[in-house]
Amino acid sequence: MTNAAALPGQPRGGAIEGQASTRAHCVLAPNPSPMTLDGTNTWIVAEPGSGLAVVIDPGPLDESHLRRVVTMVEEAGRRVALTLLTHGHPDHAEGAARFAELTRTPVRALDPALRLGDEGLGAGDVVTTGGLELRVVPTPGHTADSLSFHLPADAAVLTGDTVLGRGTTVVAHPDGRLGDYLDSLRRLRSLSVDDGVSRILPGHGPVLNDAQGAIDFYLAHRANRLAQVESAVEAGYLSAPEVVAHVYADVDRTLWPAAELSVRAQLDYLGEHGLI
Ligand SMILES: [Zn+2]
Repeated sequence: MTNAAALPGQPRGGAIEGQASTRAHCVLAPNPSPMTLDGTNTWIVAEPGSGLAVVIDPGPLDESHLRRVVTMVEEAGRRVALTLLTHGHPDHAEGAARFAELTRTPVRALDPALRLGDEGLGAGDVVTTGGLELRVVPTPGHTADSLSFHLPADAAVLTGDTVLGRGTTVVAHPDGRLGDYLDSLRRLRSLSVDDGVSRILPGHGPVLNDAQGAIDFYLAHRANRLAQVESAVEAGYLSAPEVVAHVYADVDRTLWPAAELSVRAQLDYLGEHGLI
């Protein structure tokens, strides 16, 4: 879901593409839409002085974008050593196989169907390519296979679609589940509070420089929406489309199909918790 509300720590009118922290560089894919905001952020992450780079989310199958990412890595005097995926949605993962072909590198993801090569990716894994340290943080909820990557040296976390640089994300029912999503937001919040993460490098939209503020905004937004859905049901709006029309009246209609997925996830959650 997108809306005009600025998130805490969001730079106004700041460029999305470019160096976002010492180790992370954003390349914007040319696939803007109401769902993908300015387009997908492809991240090049590398340890200073290292000749190796990790690419997170090559993005859509767009040959010129994929080649541009390779060129940018090479112009920095490096080569791509590994590709990681935050999750399997096509705007993040569709170009991965072609990117792997161009760079002759493996692809690691939580979902075995997305992997190329022998290695999987999951909770507790630490990627150490070229001296880099990327800790894998499971963050299911947007999708069941969503991962975030903690980059401790930059006090940053790459969140894919779990937290976006503008607006809020979709809990993509039935694969995405609201209970999981809330747990994931709390996990990211504790990275900020306990591990000093201050910066969110999202899968779409600009970098957020107040990680805790942004996550608190997301948690509050979810609680508000959930309360709205609960009262809509109590008021007799029983089907998901009816609830959407009632609760998401302030949201652009092109986003209503996505909102309906989130509403279905919320109705499931309320039912499971005996609240409706
Ligand atoms: Zn997604």
